[in-house]
This record gives sequence, structure tokens and C-alpha cells, in this order.
Amino acid sequence: MIFNSIKWRLLLWMAFLLILILTGLGIAICHIHLADQLSQFDDRLEGQVATLTAALSGPVTPDPDEHPPGETPGDVSAEQTNRPSPPVDQPDAGPLRLPPAFDGLFGTRNTNSFYFVLWAHGDPAPFRESANAPDGVTRPHVSNKDTGTHIRVRHRFREAYHVTEHGDCVLVGRIVDSEYEEARHFALLIFFSGAGVLGLILAAAWWLLVRALRPLEKISAAALKIASGDLSQRINVPETESELGRLAAVLNSTFARLETAFAQQRQFTSDASHELRTPISVLISEAQTTLARERTPDDYREALAASLDAAQKMRRLTESLLELARLDAGQEMLRRENTNLAAIVQDSVKFVRALAVARRVQIHCDLAEAKIFCDASRIAQVVTNLLTNAINYNYDEGEIWITTHIEGGAAVLTVVDSGLGIAPSALPRVFERFFQADESRTAGNTGLGLSICKAIVEAHGGSIEVSSSLGRGSTFTVYLPA
Ligand code: ADP
Repeated sequence: MIFNSIKWRLLLWMAFLLILILTGLGIAICHIHLADQLSQFDDRLEGQVATLTAALSGPVTPDPDEHPPGETPGDVSAEQTNRPSPPVDQPDAGPLRLPPAFDGLFGTRNTNSFYFVLWAHGDPAPFRESANAPDGVTRPHVSNKDTGTHIRVRHRFREAYHVTEHGDCVLVGRIVDSEYEEARHFALLIFFSGAGVLGLILAAAWWLLVRALRPLEKISAAALKIASGDLSQRINVPETESELGRLAAVLNSTFARLETAFAQQRQFTSDASHELRTPISVLISEAQTTLARERTPDDYREALAASLDAAQKMRRLTESLLELARLDAGQEMLRRENTNLAAIVQDSVKFVRALAVARRVQIHCDLAEAKIFCDASRIAQVVTNLLTNAINYNYDEGEIWITTHIEGGAAVLTVVDSGLGIAPSALPRVFERFFQADESRTAGNTGLGLSICKAIVEAHGGSIEVSSSLGRGSTFTVYLPA
């Protein structure tokens, strides 16, 4: 259906508006043209009336040069005479007389040329009438004082008349068929020119519309491919500054984010299954080996301990996964309260003290008051996680510096360690789920700790950053709205 296409709809609207405008313009031009034609025609009628009127008052000769082509001998013109006009107060200045030179005018039978009718003062019947005058030319009703020249229209005839100062009436008329015929031709010319202009404009508009809407076709083609599963598709629009170019850029970045999200999702599922498979395999093989023959109580105890280890790792993993899933879905309700970040850090330091002592790691605190509105148990989880990592990935007898303060409207927590550090290539990935920079040094861990920290901090409207130098230590900085 063409009405479903934006291109066609725009073109049809444009065509509709153009037809309205061009029709209005055409009608106006035809009207002006016809009015101009008729005004010129009236001028000629009035000229004839003036000549005849002048002839009635003295000897005049028709001037052949003044005749419009093809209309001789029907037209007349005159030279003004020296004959004095009869006095105005003598309306009955004698019978009407016309110089003999004008006789020819009244003899013509050509119905397409001017006709002349004269009425004597006070007589409704014509005094003299051209042979080509149509039937029913009646004396115009004009007061004797009105000596102006008037125009009247009767059916297909247009007539100019004038009452002389003696009360005689002069009328010159002609059929206006040829003027109307000419106007019809002019209207046809205007119509075809308008149709041509309309066609040209619509062709140009179609060309422009096709060019302007081409990016939309590219967008829909790319979207179709993406919908069918090819997330690597991008829209290639050269004009990046146009509206559609900007839309394509926004869609491209959305597609890129979608692709990354899907890839992360896939990676997450595969990592989760892989992480769960290891402890399950340990459980199964422990059980199978132990059950293969009769064992001593010590062997059973050992096998049960190994199974417990594997089960505990699975529990940690499933709990972490569940927590992340809840944080992702926004289901994890934060029980916010006004707290001092410094107090949370003090509690966490006490909590990990035994671990630090075991590794002979020293923890230095510089805790300034930093009031925040947060879920204290969640923020404590973040601090404990960062401290545990700082101890785990530290050298024996290493050091940790932990500080809190307010900076630019945010509560800032920094955890600096003198530990192993993180390689520059691994640094951007430490907050990824299941990422472990060096699996050999993280036995028993899940690689989900920092992902959970990030999710908790972001749920509070904050952010977390890391900087590190391999072999010299790392710095984790957490910003929380104060
Ligand atoms: P894990 O359970 O492995 O500790 P995390 O998400 O807490 O998982 O950390 C991800 C990885 O980042 C760790 O495996 C480790 O390689 C690296 N890492 C985290 N904290 C530190 C640190 N303070 N020093 C050095 N490496 C660290």
C-alpha cells in the first residue's frame, strides 16, 4: 500500500498543496488577463464613441490608420473640427447629421466588427443603426445631464454609449466572443504550464525524498538483521550531522551496548557453569574414590572434609550469584540510614584483624568523619571485601592504609596496599564477573567480590575506581554521595 510509505504520503501532501496553490495562482492570472483584455476592448469602444460623437457635431473623416487590423471599415476615428458646438442651453439644436464619410460604417454586415447605433434626442427608436447591429439594441436609460461614457454588457455583446450635450445618444458595441476565445486559449496555456511546473516540482521532490529517506531504509535493514540475531550489524550513514545521521549514531551505540551486554551475558553463564562444575566434580570424585573400597575412619574424615570444602565453595558461589542477580534486577532493597563511613570502616577492620595478623599485615587507619545515607551492612560488605583482597593479594608483613574523608560533596574511602599489584592489561577487567588476574594466587575465590562491590556502590549512586602498579600495590577508591 503506497499510503503506508512515508515517501508517498509526503509526496501526495506536497502534490495536494501545490495543486491548491497553482490552481489559485492560475485562476488569478486568468482573471487579470481577461480583465486586461476587456479593459483594452472598452478603451477601443470608448474611442469609437468619442469619434462618432465628435463627428455628429461637425465634419470629420475616418482615419484608416486608427482602425484595428481586420476591423475596417467598422471602426471610426476622428479629427476634432473647428465647428463650434451648439450652445448647451439649446438641446434641440436641429436634426442629427453625420458626415457622408461615415456612411460606410453603417453598411457593414460583418457581425464580428463594431456596430453603431444613434438615437436622436427624446426618440426611443434608433435614428441610425449599422446593418450588423444585433437585434434588441435598446436606447440606454441615461439622464441628459450624464455626458460620461458608460459600458454595458448584454449577453455576448459589450457596448459603450454616451449621451451628447444635445441629448442624442451614441452607442458602439461588438460581440466579445473572440476575446473570450482568446482568454480560453490563455487559460489552457496556463493550465498546461501549471501541470508542467507541478510535474517538475514533484519529480524534484521525489528525488530529494528518496535521497533524504535512504538512511531510514539502511536503519530498518540493519535493525532487521539485528532482530534476526546478527548483533554485529551497524548502520552506515555518511552524513553524521543530519537528523537521521544522529539517529543512526545513537542506534549504533545502542546496538554496540546490546552486543556487549549479550556477550557479557553469554560469558557470565559460561563462567558460572564452569565455576560450579569444578566443586561438583570434586564432590563426585571424592565420593567415588572413597566408596571404591573399605576405608579407615581417618580416610572417611578426610574425604568428608574435602567434600565440605567443595560444598562451601559452591554455597559461596551460589550466594554471590544470587546477590548479583538481585542487585542487577534492583530487587535488593537497601535499608538506608544516616551513618558515619568511618565507623563502618572501624568495624570492618576489627572483622578482618585475625586474617591480617595471620599474614602479619599491618593496617593503618586515618578515618575522618564522613556522614552518608546508606545501607550500612552493604557498605560494610564492600569495605570488608576490599580489605580482604588487600590482605590476600599482599606480601607477608605487608601494609595497608585505609582512609575516609569528605571531598567535593562525596564521602571518599581509599584502601591502599603494598601488595602484588595488578598488571595494566588486567586492570580494566578487575570489576568483571568471574575475572581473576592470576588464578594461581586466588585458590578458593570466586572472582565475584569486586563485581558485587561495584554493584552495591552503584546501587547507592556512587562509583569505584582502581589504580595499581604491578609488584608495588594497588589503590581502590570508593565515592559515595555524602
Ligand atoms: P576474588 O574472589 O578472586 O578475590 P575479586 O572480584 O575480589 O575476586 O577480585 C578480582 C581479581 O582482582 C582477583 O582475582 C585479583 O586477581 C585482583 N585483585 C583484587 N584486589 C586486588 C588487590 N588488592 N591487589 C591485587 N590484585 C587484586
